[in-house]
Amino acid sequence: MQKHNKDAMIDVSKIKQDFPLFKRKINGKRIVYLDSTASSLKPKKVIDAVNGYYKRYTANVFRSIYKTSEEATAKYEQAREYVADFIHAKNTSEIVFTRNTDESLSLLVYSWLPYHVRQGDVLVTSILEHHANFVPWQQYALKNKCDFRIWNADRNGILSLEAIEKLVSKRTKLFTFTAASNVLGTLPPVKKIIEKVKEMNPLCLTVVDAAQAVPHLPVDVENWGADVVAFSGHKMMAPSGIGVLWAKEQLLEEMPPFLFGGDMIKEVHEKTTVFNDIPHKFEAGTPFIEGAIGLGAAVEYLSALGMRHVREHEKKIVSYALDQLTKIPGLTMYGPADPDIRGGVVAFQMKGIHPHDIAQVLDEDNICIRVGYHCAMPLHEYLAIGPTCRASFYVYNDTKDVDALAEGLKKVKKMFE
Ligand code: PLP
Repeated sequence: MQKHNKDAMIDVSKIKQDFPLFKRKINGKRIVYLDSTASSLKPKKVIDAVNGYYKRYTANVFRSIYKTSEEATAKYEQAREYVADFIHAKNTSEIVFTRNTDESLSLLVYSWLPYHVRQGDVLVTSILEHHANFVPWQQYALKNKCDFRIWNADRNGILSLEAIEKLVSKRTKLFTFTAASNVLGTLPPVKKIIEKVKEMNPLCLTVVDAAQAVPHLPVDVENWGADVVAFSGHKMMAPSGIGVLWAKEQLLEEMPPFLFGGDMIKEVHEKTTVFNDIPHKFEAGTPFIEGAIGLGAAVEYLSALGMRHVREHEKKIVSYALDQLTKIPGLTMYGPADPDIRGGVVAFQMKGIHPHDIAQVLDEDNICIRVGYHCAMPLHEYLAIGPTCRASFYVYNDTKDVDALAEGLKKVKKMFE
């Protein structure tokens, strides 16, 4: 893999050229893409990698000895190596390719929970969660009469470490939380949280939803100390439909597979089956080969930028956005004011104007934001705020994009005054 350029700073005008979508104009106007939290744009490098598979070596993986299939297999496995390296996993066998974060997390409902969690046991998730890290545990708890507990945050999304003492006991079997809120942008101190949970109950499974962390910050899963980490390719410049489940080798060895069929087996006889080694045991059927190859290219792209720089850049942009948007009368922003503990996400509302109206007016100028509950309804209900607008930033956004948003919002305000 191309080595990290640790001294390079983020040059947005150069980066924008890597993303073909920015060449497009709609009604003669440029696109201001502020919805990377939902899905990021794709650089040419990723598009070329996917095209390369289609044009030069389309074949299934693992099954054949002809050259193009061997090439496809090598690229698929190379992507796994890149991902392992990117998140500092010990071994490629710890990287399971899934479809997305939802699938990575839900896999535990089939492969881990039924073997460890009984009636009356406690499952904990935080109030900040995306539904992907909320509904699986809620539903399991309902079905199995477990105690589903919520780790509440303050109004800025700050989770208290002391509260862990009340939530974790011998009966707590799973403790999960997001490494970055997709609404408030809050960045909880992952390592400290895991340490605290393990101090209270070393056997409690710790699961981190890193869907908004791996694309935006340097992540070291070994340093975090969690048992399971999940994330999605499409939020980090890769194709949609490829996701990752990282788990410690021993845990993956112990867990039974939840999808059965081809490739996840070593031998099948009339009465018995021997499952494949990890991670293949969890990758039944023909995988999303080109998706994984695209993810490998995305990891190369991000690594060349340097994740430290990606984070620093987003911190600058979010600080600037917080400064600019506060100047708009009637606009309320949610989440921490301190950019040190905030990712590149700004959720907001404008007094008396429905978020959908705001998004529609912004769309006239091709300013793409997201509105609604952002798959985090419990959080919106907890804050009692109703649907919000959300602008989110990535390496291809600059202060001009923030200015366009601020101007757009002023236009909205005038229209509805
Ligand atoms: N977790 C968080 C924090 C998210 O922001 C998202 C998507 O927005 C998800 C999980 C779900 O990701 P996916 O739709 O790729 O499964």
